[in-house]
Amino acid sequence: MNKKHNFSAGPSILPQEVFRQAADAVLDFNGSGLSILEVSHRSKDFVAVMEEARALSLDLMGLTGQGYQALFLQGGASMEFLRIPYNFMGMQGKAAYLDTGTWAAAAIKEAKVFGHTEIIASSKESNYNFIPKDYTIPADADYFHCTSNNTIFGTQMKSFPDSPVPMVCDMSSDIFSRQIDFSKFDLIYAGAQKNMGPAGVTLVVVKEDALGETGRKIPSILDYKQHIDKESMYNTPSVFAVYTSLLTLRWLNENGGIGAMEQRNNAKAELLYNEIDRNPLFTGTAATEDRSLMNATFVLNDIAHTENFDKMWKEAGISGLTGHRSVGGYRASMYNAMPIESVQVLVDVMKRLEITG
Ligand SMILES: *Cc1c(COP(=O)(O)O)cnc(C)c1O
Repeated sequence: MNKKHNFSAGPSILPQEVFRQAADAVLDFNGSGLSILEVSHRSKDFVAVMEEARALSLDLMGLTGQGYQALFLQGGASMEFLRIPYNFMGMQGKAAYLDTGTWAAAAIKEAKVFGHTEIIASSKESNYNFIPKDYTIPADADYFHCTSNNTIFGTQMKSFPDSPVPMVCDMSSDIFSRQIDFSKFDLIYAGAQKNMGPAGVTLVVVKEDALGETGRKIPSILDYKQHIDKESMYNTPSVFAVYTSLLTLRWLNENGGIGAMEQRNNAKAELLYNEIDRNPLFTGTAATEDRSLMNATFVLNDIAHTENFDKMWKEAGISGLTGHRSVGGYRASMYNAMPIESVQVLVDVMKRLEITG
C-alpha cells in the first residue's frame, strides 16, 4: 500500500502502529481466540479496556483524584450538544454560549430547545475568522459553553476565561493536543474521530459534583450520572472504537504525553504557517493570533493556480486538503498522529508551485 499523507479534518489520521494493533485485535484480541468485534462488552478483558481508557484519559489531563469521571459515550459530539443542557440547565435557567463557528452554532441550536440561551459573543459576521475576546459571562447563567478549536474555520482559543459559572467545552478537534489547565472546566467533551480514535465514540470528562443541580427529570441514556454509576457501560459501548481510542491514548502516553504532543504540534504548525505567510501565492484565512495548531485554513490568491496546485499535491500523495464548503480554499489538518515529514511534503509542493506557477 502506498500510504497517503492524510490532512483530512475527520475522521482523520491515527498513528500507524495503532492501525496495526487494531487490525491484529480484529483477528485475535489479547490472544483470546476471539475477535475484538465478537467479545462481550462484559468480558473481563473488555472491562479492563474500558477501565484503562477512562483512567488514562484523566491521567493525561492531570485530573486523576480531582473529582472527575471520564465516560466513553455514543452519539458523537452532537449528542453532547443535547446532553449538556439536559444535565446543566435549570428548569427556569439560562445558558451562555460563545459562538465561534459552525459547531458552536449547532450546540447553541440544541440549547435553545431547552431554554433561555444567550450568545454572549460571536464572530459570525466575519465568517468566524477570529475568536471574540471581549465578553462577560453572566454570573446568573447555569453554565458557559465554548469551543476550544473551530475545525472548519481554523481558529483556536489560546486562553480560557475565569468563568463565574460552570464552564463546558467542546474540545473535539484539539483534545490532548496541548497543555491546558483542564481543572478549569466542569465538563469537557470530544468526538474521538478528530484526534483520539475512530468515529463512534465520544469522550466526556465531567466533574461529578457539578451534576444533579437542575431539578429536571433526565432520561437514563441522557443522564451523565447514570453513565457514571454504570461505569460507562449503561448500554453496549462502541467496543472497537473504545479499544482503538485506548491504543491511541497508550501511544500518546508512551510518546511523552500532552507536553510532547504540543511541542510537535507547534513545530508542524510553524512550518506550515511560515510558508503560507512567506509564499506570495497563498493567504491564511484565520486571524493570525487565533490560528489553530490543528487545522490551518488558507487560500490561493489567484484561483488560476487551482488546477495546478490540486494536481501537484495529489501527485505528492497528499489527501484531504480541500477546505470545508463554507470556507472554500484549503484546510490542512495536522492532528497529533501526523508526522512533520508530511507537513514538509505539503510545504515543498507550495514552494514548487511558486517556482513553476
Ligand atoms: C466534528 C466536530 C463536531 C461534530 O462531531 P460529531 O461526532 O460528528 O457529532 C463537533 N464539534 C467539533 C469542534 C467538531 O470538530
